[in-house]
Amino acid sequence: MKPKIGVFSFTSCEGCQLQVFNLEEEFASLIDQVEFVNFREAMSEKGEDYQIAFIEGSITRESEIETLKSIREKAEILIAFGACAHLGGVNNLKNLHPMDGWLPSVYNRKDLFTDTIPTRRIKDVVPVDYVMPGCPIDKCEFLRFVQSLILKIEPRLPDYPVCVECRSKGNICLVEQGKWCLGSITRAGCDAICPTYKDSCAGCRGLVEEPNIESLVNILLEKGFSKDEIRSKLGFFNGLEDIEI
Ligand code: SF4
Ligand code: SF4
Ligand code: SF4
Repeated sequence: MKPKIGVFSFTSCEGCQLQVFNLEEEFASLIDQVEFVNFREAMSEKGEDYQIAFIEGSITRESEIETLKSIREKAEILIAFGACAHLGGVNNLKNLHPMDGWLPSVYNRKDLFTDTIPTRRIKDVVPVDYVMPGCPIDKCEFLRFVQSLILKIEPRLPDYPVCVECRSKGNICLVEQGKWCLGSITRAGCDAICPTYKDSCAGCRGLVEEPNIESLVNILLEKGFSKDEIRSKLGFFNGLEDIEI
């Protein structure tokens, strides 16, 4: 019997779900091996008999909590799918200011979105079995991940930093050029796509095991970045905006 998969979305841009469709022909071969029973962007059926649940998005409304807990009860395996689910992602910006400050200016009417709450990662609400990092996730990593689950092999993520991929591509380091980059503390797996296109790594895949944050901070201070700039970069995906510098 094919494993049954549900893909669920909470507060997010749904770009991680789109990455699955970007597999194109490989997506067709994937549905020979698994059965999607619930996948909002792909189908109207809403099956409840899934063994594997991919959770996209973070929790930012009270009403989402019960829905997520109900999915957790049904799923044998639950995966935080993408940076919003894994780290809070861009939605963490909501937590940087008091709610009563921004709420009236964003929604204008007090009766709208009254159940909005500070952003929470999926693991803050229910136990998470695995994480698929990235903003968005990497479609090839998704394919490998699902195949591991089908074969009952423990899915593995790279345990080295983005710098390893970046250097192996022959890129000239952005930090050496006076720019900021979080590649040295960020988990690899994206093929260093941002620095390869001369854009700084913002850390969307989360921290590598044992990141040397202090060393990176010292280098960025030497390069002339202010403490506030560094906190802002570290806070964007990884919630380290309160770090002591
Ligand atoms: S992780 Fe990024 S691409 Fe994925 S849903 Fe969140 S904002 Fe969108
Ligand atoms: S550009 Fe960024 S990812 Fe590449 S080597 Fe430098 S710090 Fe590492
Ligand atoms: S280089 Fe950094 S910000 Fe860009 S995709 Fe990779 S982990 Fe994310």
